[in-house]
Amino acid sequence: MRPIIYLSLGFLLQLTRAQAFTLNNSAAIVFAHDEVSVNIASNNCSNIGIDETELLSIVADAVDSYWNKSPTSRLKLRAGIVSSQLAAFKTGLICNANTSCDPNPTLAVSSGVLITCNNNSSNFSSNAVLAVTVPNNISGNTILGSLIMINDQVGNVFISKSRAEKVSIIAHELGHTFGLGHSPVSDSLMYYSTVSMRKSLGADDIDGITYLYPKQQPVTCGTITEKNNPNSWLGLLIGIGFISLLAGLFDKIQLRYLKLRPRV
Ligand SMILES: [Zn+2]
Repeated sequence: MRPIIYLSLGFLLQLTRAQAFTLNNSAAIVFAHDEVSVNIASNNCSNIGIDETELLSIVADAVDSYWNKSPTSRLKLRAGIVSSQLAAFKTGLICNANTSCDPNPTLAVSSGVLITCNNNSSNFSSNAVLAVTVPNNISGNTILGSLIMINDQVGNVFISKSRAEKVSIIAHELGHTFGLGHSPVSDSLMYYSTVSMRKSLGADDIDGITYLYPKQQPVTCGTITEKNNPNSWLGLLIGIGFISLLAGLFDKIQLRYLKLRPRV
């Protein structure tokens, strides 16, 4: 019975370790550059309880605590600047058609990531929707710019979140900006609903960003070193035995020499 239990546990562990990140498109679009700035549209946030300077500080924590900690990917996100943008970023539609997003060309982000507050109810199916994101300036398979809209309507839920939760929410949306979709693995930043409970990237998040932005590494020689080699231990024991033998002989010679010496 016990082996069956062990086998079942092993199978369940394999299931919970399933890696299943998704992309937010079918073409695996990516940013062309390894460094991407995340900027904030100024004077657009009225109802989320923080100003744009604090939002930029949250962005800095989001990139440092999450995506920039991935050890196997080359993409580095940087907190950028607060800059003036068209009024349409506060009031406009992110997509002209919501079923399959046809990005609104008026809001095309020229480069990197732009975060704006927005109060157009058509962008958010309910106030429980914290934010919406889309890469909205694409050339071929390259993302030139992506837009994050935070729900800034009166009654939004974003305002009630703790700072740490806001950091993880922004980190989740940043995942969408550079090409990731949702993960079905609940232990992931990119899981659709537990984002506010996350403190770090999950294995699935790291797999996703590494798939899109693998770190370049030169060809190196692979080696393997044997640890605890029984032959090494045998050699050590023989060595200790030999030294002990020599020490014993030395003692005998020394005793004999002392016996022969005149005592005073
Ligand atoms: Zn999402």
